[in-house]
Amino acid sequence: MNKTLFVTGGAGFIGSSMVRLLINNTTYNVVNIDKLTYAGHLESLKDIALNERYSFERVDICNHKEITELFDKYQPCGILHLAAESHVDRSIESSNVFMQTNIMGTYNLLECTRHYLSKNSTPSFKFIHVSTDEVFGTLGKTGYFNEDTKYDPQSPYSSSKASSDLLVKAWHNTYNIPTIITNCTNNYGPYHYPEKLIPLVINNALQEKPLPIYGTGENIRDWLYAEDHVRGILLVYEKGIIGQTYCIGGHNEKTNLEVVHTICNILDKIKPRASQKSYMELITFVPDRLGHDYRYAMDPTKIETTLSYKPQETFITGIEKTINWYMDNQAWVKIVTS
Ligand code: NAD
Repeated sequence: MNKTLFVTGGAGFIGSSMVRLLINNTTYNVVNIDKLTYAGHLESLKDIALNERYSFERVDICNHKEITELFDKYQPCGILHLAAESHVDRSIESSNVFMQTNIMGTYNLLECTRHYLSKNSTPSFKFIHVSTDEVFGTLGKTGYFNEDTKYDPQSPYSSSKASSDLLVKAWHNTYNIPTIITNCTNNYGPYHYPEKLIPLVINNALQEKPLPIYGTGENIRDWLYAEDHVRGILLVYEKGIIGQTYCIGGHNEKTNLEVVHTICNILDKIKPRASQKSYMELITFVPDRLGHDYRYAMDPTKIETTLSYKPQETFITGIEKTINWYMDNQAWVKIVTS
């Protein structure tokens, strides 16, 4: 019988890519556990919804009884934990749900895992906790994050993720739960809810709306195509060492302004505006985000050298695929934003 993996947050941006990779490229059965918040949409999984190895359970990860029942029902060989509240701006406006889902939800999953493993012999079980480079805070003009960087989260979102990472470490150290943490750089790609920089700018450009950029646009992020991220998570699940952390990134540092210029240049070529003016004319600088981290940049040497990890997309190939996907999938945008 095929083994079963839980994916939490499988109806979200990265989670849906994770589910798709597992269904299309492995033999695992997949149980997608998702509460379907504003960011979770089954529309993102239409292509695999009828696959016999895929199941969906609409459950809140904070619900102890229902998560326990799912462990009993499916007897998983692992959990890839991606469910989270993920948008920094929303966490600044209203942080409560971030603390509930990101901290208490992770705590609940760890406790349910502990009870499950105490009753069942599942020797190869692994709990992969998917986290972010934002837990490390902000860099100046030089230097990189790696597995030894000290935690220094700056926003309500990143502090809730940092807290959940610490719970995962504690449950491994205290109860010997077989956990691994991944900390990844900023993701982009298809099925990204259009509130974050890249999908927002692409969609606004397609709709001839202003392209908002915080401050002067000089903040730097390190970008990874979501499909490359989930390949890294699967690699870590299959070959990573229990108790360790793996930093995932693809050496793609860009200022926000560079990202937006790249999108405008590509759109100018493939979908010129009726006015013949450049999409650059839509760029609008808006007041900076509170506590805006200046720079994130990852040194992924550990995962590259110990697990032979290599992203398949460059920033240019990934951003072209992303732009083309949004041009072809405006119906998806309408459904998830209405
Ligand atoms: P997302 O916001 O697109 O999706 C989150 C998913 O979790 C949604 O489907 C939502 O319905 C679900 N969810 C939220 N609260 C839940 C709850 N209480 N119970 C069950 N399901 C719930 O997020 P994303 O961008 O796909 O991020 C996935 C994970 O990867 C997060 O843990 C995030 O911190 C991490 N991460 C994201 C990035 C990035 O750039 N997006 C980078 C590094 C790490």
